[in-house]
Amino acid sequence: MTRKVDFLVIGAGPGGYAAAFRAADLGRKVVLVDARATLGGVCLNEGCIPSKALLHAAAILHEMSEAKDWGIAVEERPPIDLERLRARKDGIVTTLTGGLAGLARRRKVEVIQGFARFGGPDRVVVGDEELQFADCVIATGSAPVRLPSWPEDSRIWDSTAALELRGVPDRLAVVGGGIIGLEMATVYAALGSAVTVVELGPQIVPGADGEAASILRASLEASGCRILTDTRVTAITPGKETVGLELSGAVEEHVEADAVIQAVGRRADAAALDLAKAGLEARADGTLAVDPYGRTGKANIYAIGDVTGGPMLAHRATHQGKIAAELASGHHPAPLSALIPSVAYTRPELAWIGQSLDQARAAGVKARAASFPWQASGRNLTSGAGAGLTRLVYCEESKRLLGATLVGTNAGELLSELTLAIEMGARLEDVALTVHAHPTLSETVAFAAERALGTLTDL
Ligand code: FAD
Ligand code: NAD
Repeated sequence: MTRKVDFLVIGAGPGGYAAAFRAADLGRKVVLVDARATLGGVCLNEGCIPSKALLHAAAILHEMSEAKDWGIAVEERPPIDLERLRARKDGIVTTLTGGLAGLARRRKVEVIQGFARFGGPDRVVVGDEELQFADCVIATGSAPVRLPSWPEDSRIWDSTAALELRGVPDRLAVVGGGIIGLEMATVYAALGSAVTVVELGPQIVPGADGEAASILRASLEASGCRILTDTRVTAITPGKETVGLELSGAVEEHVEADAVIQAVGRRADAAALDLAKAGLEARADGTLAVDPYGRTGKANIYAIGDVTGGPMLAHRATHQGKIAAELASGHHPAPLSALIPSVAYTRPELAWIGQSLDQARAAGVKARAASFPWQASGRNLTSGAGAGLTRLVYCEESKRLLGATLVGTNAGELLSELTLAIEMGARLEDVALTVHAHPTLSETVAFAAERALGTLTDL
């Protein structure tokens, strides 16, 4: 049976549901298809949200472990009710996915559960139904990379399995020192696992400022994680009791673990959509090429989110989704901003935006950086004195801000001020002369700008 659909969205993650809801708000008749039973995609079901819930539990445990320094006696290793923790996390996910279902109903967005494939340039097949669309948005996301040589074993987890909280392994090996690996290391180290992180590259969180990544590394090590960089896993052997890992590179060692988390990246698989039938082709890495409006090259087919490549982040997907919905509905949206903020919700958080000093200089800009160490922040000292740094990258001539990195408590929240500043073409004076409340961590942003201008009196 063939049915006509005005606006079809494949994939109900943060990209897909944003596109669907925006299109519905613009008067389109929308059908949203997803293979899973709940809306929200990876982000709500097995990504951003459950990981942040577990990271909150980790933060509580960290605070408790530091309570004695403030004269508050609490059990240093309080018993953890895993079932209750799991239920709390799952409850948050259910609240949010259920909320989305309500928002879809309110907008009269029809939701179909099923796996979609193209059946032609203007049609998609879901089960035994064929949907002939006027416009289609592909928002099928990504899945964890599985190293092909790795065996199948219930003790070798991807991020989805790690978030299920099956148990707290005594010894946990995390392969990959990117954001997923380190967020999971933060969670399980707090829950009591002895965590070893094995990272192929020379620094954790490749792509982030090197000094900020070193501060994060030192903090993770102080909280009990062992972090090995320039090291690869050459063999992995599930044994009866444990899983054995052979390491080579900077560290040559045999490691025994009770569980292993594989966090070596995520991959899109656009080809699974039978793209050739729509006249499209996936790139070698499984993604679809698009322009800053999400256009694929086929007039009525857009692609957004992780399926279009990196950075694979929920907020990028959401913005792409709205842009595609608006363009397809006859509006004139601005293209996707090149400024996509990145935040690792580790302890401490690591957040960055825009250009690093090296990137700016490589682009031919006379760039400089100015930093403010959080050891000199009153607010930081009064709230635990965690390690931290605020660094601004700016153009020496124009004093325009080009990029920023923050590492420290709530760095992710502080980043938004700088993202807005860079979007608006702010100069150092704009930040330095904006009165920041005292004592706040946000003062470190103004202090870094003052330091660059030579007006700082707090150091
Ligand atoms: P997805 O969220 O991947 O959703 C795609 C949906 O499409 C899925 O529901 C899938 O079932 C469906 N689908 C796929 N193929 C088909 C098909 N053929 N037919 C029908 N349905 C289909 N990002 C952040 O910004 N902040 C974070 O804190 C963060 N934390 C993360 C933590 C973890 C553990 C993980 C794994 C990811 C995290 N991410 C985070 C990344 C974020 O989840 C993704 O960038 C985001 O979900 C991508 O959104 P999307 O709309 O492109 O697709
Ligand atoms: P990633 O690509 O960010 O990091 C993977 C890491 O694994 C890299 O550091 C890489 O050098 C390392 N690696 C690759 N192969 C390896 C090997 N064989 N042995 C050891 N190390 C190896 O991927 P990820 O951390 O899996 O995250 C996937 C995506 O999800 C990213 O795009 C990320 O931005 C997104 N994500 C975002 C958040 C957030 O915004 N807070 C949280 C989780 C995930």
